[in-house]
Amino acid sequence: MKLLEYMAREIFWEHGIPVKKSIVIDCVDEMHDKINAAGLKYPVVVKAQVQAGGRGKAGGVRFAENGDEAERHARAMFGAQVRGFTVKELLVVEKTEIETEWYLSIITDRQSKGPLLIFSPVGGVDIEETAINEPDKIAKVPINIFRGIRDYDIIYALDRTGADMAMYAKLKDIAVNLYNAFIAYDCLLAEINPLAITPSGEFIAADGKVEVDDSALYRLPKLLALRDKHEDDPLVAEARRFRFHFIRMDADGTAGVISNGSGMLMGCIDMFANKGIKAGAALDLGGGATAERVREAVRIIFCAENISTLLLNIFGGITRCDEVANGVRMALADIPADKKVVIRMDGTNREEGLAVLADTAAIVVGSTAEGAEAICASLEVRANDGFLPGLFGEGTE
Ligand code: GDP
Ligand code: MN
Repeated sequence: MKLLEYMAREIFWEHGIPVKKSIVIDCVDEMHDKINAAGLKYPVVVKAQVQAGGRGKAGGVRFAENGDEAERHARAMFGAQVRGFTVKELLVVEKTEIETEWYLSIITDRQSKGPLLIFSPVGGVDIEETAINEPDKIAKVPINIFRGIRDYDIIYALDRTGADMAMYAKLKDIAVNLYNAFIAYDCLLAEINPLAITPSGEFIAADGKVEVDDSALYRLPKLLALRDKHEDDPLVAEARRFRFHFIRMDADGTAGVISNGSGMLMGCIDMFANKGIKAGAALDLGGGATAERVREAVRIIFCAENISTLLLNIFGGITRCDEVANGVRMALADIPADKKVVIRMDGTNREEGLAVLADTAAIVVGSTAEGAEAICASLEVRANDGFLPGLFGEGTE
């Protein structure tokens, strides 16, 4: 789960990382009063709370000297698109006087199999950009989880990047606090960019990006409650109610795919791609799907606009094919007749499952490859439908 900036700031504040005073607003009404009531001093920065970086360049970060200016920005920003996201909340934060922008993050790193501290004295820009333009200005330091962050980790980071060694003690403080936050919130990423240095030499976290491992959300109830509130896609939220993982794919894709495992899901999508079929949506059932849940899964995937054909690919282990078949049978009664369901089942109770589907409209295939073939055939039929007028020489309308 990617957190919005203001949530990241809350976590930073909890862990002793300096942030400026701020408030979150969801409408322009009485904005000036709210800013005053919270004790914020002008100038302020008005920032779009969307799950995207690079907001600054996209008009999502604006400076205001007074209440009128802040309100004008807010009016322009609410409801606007920033990097493809609609702005519903704004953070108003006291502006930091910045002399230098540094970069500091901790990620869960596959290569070193643990937390990795990334530091650069070139901040305010994407770290990927720095990695290309000034690779010498980035230090990557694997953190030993038994010892935590040590003096020498920070000394190495500053030395390697040619950064001001005098900042060492303050940087270590921030890094240790960031590491504690990273561990406390089971993070995949905890990033401060820019880590601002004020003219008086103080560090301030002027922006924050935190991504929490979804598997840990069960023990972070505060975040779990926020997740659904901030889920933009109603189908993702709907699928989650049944413990499904719903993934939007190509906006103009017309094929849907459901499977009991993400590996098989990806395999199917690859096979589609090889045949030039665009998947529009995918849904992972997880293990042990019951008839009732399969019915919901099929209903949900056809709720996605454009999806006309579905490949349901099941390898029955814990999941029983007869349960799946019964679910499909029920779902076929719910969905419009022009929606096609192609199904491939193998494994536990396959024969029973096939018997359940015998007199239904489901197209049963023997393998994943045949499934992709059937989806292809079904989509081509649709394409031809659209071209029929042309056959009579009347052209298309
Ligand atoms: P992002 O573009 O989504 O990463 O949003 P940021 O919050 O990082 O803002 C982008 C840039 O705006 C920063 O790199 C800074 O240069 C500038 N900026 C953001 N907040 C402040 C602030 O409080 N004071 C000053 N002087 N600049 C800021
Ligand atoms: Mn930033």
